[in-house]
Amino acid sequence: MSDEIKPCPFCGGEAKLIGEPKCYWINCQNSDCLTSSGINQKTEEEAIQYWNRRVDKSEPITMEKFLDLMYSTTGTQRLPGEESMVVGIFSPLLEAINTHFLGVVR
Ligand SMILES: [Zn+2]
Repeated sequence: MSDEIKPCPFCGGEAKLIGEPKCYWINCQNSDCLTSSGINQKTEEEAIQYWNRRVDKSEPITMEKFLDLMYSTTGTQRLPGEESMVVGIFSPLLEAINTHFLGVVR
């Protein structure tokens, strides 16, 4: 196996490859977390690459990205003048998320 399995992106716990021929995935071994790569991959290498790629994507969430996600997942539309209020409400939350989960210090 060429790639090493990175720790869990949420708790930092050990992650383990699970599966059988043609069906592999990775689970966090921390019983309080249980994060899973969730998608079954055909080879061990693909499962590891999938898990590690997701970890590498950890980057600060911008307010624009956050708003896009919020409006698209709730199915609501942006209203004129609403954005500054939403930004005011969610800025502290977004900063806490980035600091806590991604270790970003502004
Ligand atoms: Zn975990």
